[in-house]
Order: sequence, then structure tokens, then C-alpha cells
Amino acid sequence: MKFTKKQIDRYSRQIILKKIGVIGQKKLLKSSVLIVGAGGLGSPIAIYLAALGIGKIGIVDKDNVEMSNLARQIIFETNDINKKKPSTAISKLKKINPDIQLRSFNENLTRININQIAKSFDLIVDGSDNFRTRFLINDYCAESKKILVSGAISKFDGQVYTFNFSKKKSPCLRCFIPKIPNNPDVDNCEFEGVLGPLAGIIGSIQANEVVKEILEIGDTLCGNILIIDALKLTFRKVKLNKREGCYCNEKN
Ligand SMILES: [Zn+2]
Repeated sequence: MKFTKKQIDRYSRQIILKKIGVIGQKKLLKSSVLIVGAGGLGSPIAIYLAALGIGKIGIVDKDNVEMSNLARQIIFETNDINKKKPSTAISKLKKINPDIQLRSFNENLTRININQIAKSFDLIVDGSDNFRTRFLINDYCAESKKILVSGAISKFDGQVYTFNFSKKKSPCLRCFIPKIPNNPDVDNCEFEGVLGPLAGIIGSIQANEVVKEILEIGDTLCGNILIIDALKLTFRKVKLNKREGCYCNEKN
């Protein structure tokens, strides 16, 4: 693959970085990322990943845009209310970067369709809002040895964790939350509220993790959970250990 003049110009500030360069930028353009959830986290994740040149991006979400989404789901506008989220998000991303492939899946991720939807993507970014989906993605990534970058937000608190299941030592979500908590479908944002910019902080950290995992640069969060308190503005990195007897041991 040879860069066009436009591509060199578009990605020049990344190509100039020694740890990325032409080779790294080509690697990003050859990579594919599935974003689960076109919400508060999915918005900044999708905008950054499209802008920085991930070659193929898929977005899966069943919801339509609602008024109550707009305070944090910055990819959508007031005019988008009642429109389908993934296809609406993708029409925005096309304007940001016409250089990449985009796919929308207007459905909920389930045990039945997850392989069909996710199999052609190298990496999955979880921006979903419920435990059922979180566990489904965790188990699928552990089985198919894909990289998972997951984020969660509620009130003023956020978490990010990365699992690179191609590495034997990677723990999984079930290593520290063995069972799906009660009310697995509860959307915390709806019941507990959330501060808009927190979605931007967590989603941006997830996008940053995606780039590092693809390029194998720096230290990713793999094996740690990052806990952020936006009120006190503290960032804590806590080591996660692989739990003996956990599901992921059989799969790795
Ligand atoms: Zn595990």
C-alpha cells in the first residue's frame, strides 16, 4: 500500500511521531475495530478512531437517538433525534474521514449474532451500558483471542480495562467479577446519571489504548484496571490478577 499525497497530509502529525511513522500509520489503516455501543463512550471513540485512520470501523447499537443522549453523545445533533444511532454516527464519520471503510449494525449484540458481526474485526471496543453485553463481549474475545478495550461510566466515576487475549497472562472480566451482577440490563446512566465530559475522558483513553495495542507501543492497560474519579480528578491503576479456575483459563 502506497500513501497518496492527501493521506500523507491528513496523517502527517502522527507519521512524524517516531513510534508511529509511515509503517505505523499503514498498520492503523490496515486494522479493523468494532465499537459496541454508539453512546457516550462510543461517540468520542468513533470520532478519534475514524479521524486517526483506523482502516475499517464497525458500529453496533440498536437504539435510536434520544434527547437525553445529547448532553454526552457528542457525535449526534438535535436534528438526529429518532434516527438510528449506528447509521447516523457513520454518516458523521464519513465527513470526518472519507478515507476509511465504515459499517453499521442496527441491532443488539447477542450470543447468536456476535460471531457473524465481530469476526472480521481485529479488536473490539466496548462502550456498552449493561453487564449482559459486557460479559458477552468478554467471553467472545477470550474465546476468539481478540483484543478487548472496555470502558464504563456512572455518575462521576469511570473505569477502563484492556484485555489482550492473544497473551496467555491476560486476565478477563470474570477474573474480578465472576458472575453477572443482578439487573444485568440496567443502564447506569439512565438511573444514576453521568457527567458529559467524563464520557469524553474515558472514551478518549479507550481510543488511545486501541492505538497502542494495534501498534504494540508503550504500556497498555492490559492486566490492569484504571479507575477515575472525575470529582477529585484521581487516576488509580489497579493490577488485575488472573483468577484460578476462571473461564478464561480454559480458553487460553
Ligand atoms: Zn478470567
